[in-house]
Amino acid sequence: MPQKKQKKSNTQDLLQEYDIPDNRHNFSKIWDLLKKENPDVKPSLNYSNPLELLIATVLSAQSTDVQINKVTEKLFKKYRTEEDYANADLRELENDIYSTGFYKNKAKNIKDSARIIIEHHNGEVPKTMEELVALPGVGRKTANIILARGFGVTEGIAVDTHVKRVSRRLGLTKHSDPEKIEQDLMSLVPKEEYDSFSMTLIYHGRKICHARKPDCPSCVVNKLCPSGVIYMSQYNL
Ligand code: SF4
Repeated sequence: MPQKKQKKSNTQDLLQEYDIPDNRHNFSKIWDLLKKENPDVKPSLNYSNPLELLIATVLSAQSTDVQINKVTEKLFKKYRTEEDYANADLRELENDIYSTGFYKNKAKNIKDSARIIIEHHNGEVPKTMEELVALPGVGRKTANIILARGFGVTEGIAVDTHVKRVSRRLGLTKHSDPEKIEQDLMSLVPKEEYDSFSMTLIYHGRKICHARKPDCPSCVVNKLCPSGVIYMSQYNL
């Protein structure tokens, strides 16, 4: 049984109180089972071009994809080009994206990104990691998504809150920093599966490996997951 950490964490996630052992040797079996469980993963944000993908992904921070799809349904009809966003009245744009949360930052970032795309990239969403992460509000997670789904370019693995939580519970990484987690995962996952791996862990995190109450008894990888062993023994499941 993995050891409990000395200091009790103040989180409601019991699993964060344990040192999860390195479980990378089980990666192939875990990945095969998760793929079989989720054979048809696809992006859950709606978009029809790289600009819409960029906007939707920036908006999705700290929100749900369902909520973002509601907002973008109207937004993408009102703002169709980089110029529309760059020339938008900031207050009006804030109002249009208000329900996504952090709307002031997001509106400013979107407007500034649109201006940079017009001034430095001939009005086209850039296609390299370096250029994408130079846009305000775009980190490696967003850039990986845009590269993979907007341009078919495989660069890295998008690490969101679900990918972070599930990969740590599975013992595939000990890191908390998304960029370090990404490096650990890239050393395990075949490059052509980077994007599907990210989406699969997101599906699994939403459906089974919930933040507060993971459904370990129903989980297809519970016999290979060190956290599942802890969770089920703690709750006699
Ligand atoms: S066994 Fe439990 S903790 Fe491990 S991946 Fe499955 S749901 Fe998550």
